Amino acid sequence: MQTFPVKTSSRDQIVEITSQIQSVVSQSGHGDAMVIVYVPHTTAGITINENADPDVVHDMLGQLDQMVPWHQPFYRHGEGNSASHVKASMMGSSVTVMVTDGRLVLGQWQGIYFCEFDGPRSRKVIVKVLPN
Ligand code: ZN
Repeated sequence: MQTFPVKTSSRDQIVEITSQIQSVVSQSGHGDAMVIVYVPHTTAGITINENADPDVVHDMLGQLDQMVPWHQPFYRHGEGNSASHVKASMMGSSVTVMVTDGRLVLGQWQGIYFCEFDGPRSRKVIVKVLPN
């Protein structure tokens, strides 16, 4: 198991971490494997989506904001970041990716993304490579 840090600079931010994951896979020396990428936070998530057009990330953040407003009259959570918790669960806290010939099996336009919903903060991502 390996951990690496992600530093975010705004409240909502989607950060590509594909190269960091590939590095962990490469260092593991396993050619055929499964890799689990896990975020141990309640107000951050992880997802796989398009890595070609940065407008996709912009539009995702905008749509999430529209679906989950920062203020709602029925929110009870005293910390005041209910929207962050909801968005984190919408994205999920892990992804599993196949590894073949030492490379992540991703589509041409896919990247692995850390999703910050209560930044800026110093976060961490946990990676486990399971050899086949
Ligand atoms: Zn909270």
